[in-house]
Amino acid sequence: MHSAPGPEWETACRICGHDDDPEPFWEGGRPNEGAICPCCGNEPSMKDVSVIGLRENRGHWLGQGAPWDSPSFRPKDWDILEQVKNIPAEWR
Ligand SMILES: [Zn+2]
Repeated sequence: MHSAPGPEWETACRICGHDDDPEPFWEGGRPNEGAICPCCGNEPSMKDVSVIGLRENRGHWLGQGAPWDSPSFRPKDWDILEQVKNIPAEWR
């Protein structure tokens, strides 16, 4: 049984803001290992607790042109500027 997503639940990717997965990326304050982001390809881990590290990873991904790890999941009307708004404020 899962309670409603709260502060310890994050359904948006901390790197790219992708928020369309059935599984949360973070659950009860823990990384949901194996929930690989289809957009930026990040796998949530305890490494993702540093804003500096997240910004580095995000910058690297954006610097490559924001490629999709699973291109078949890319929506036709994908808007990266809309998506990054989903990144929780504390990880921007
Ligand atoms: Zn991502």
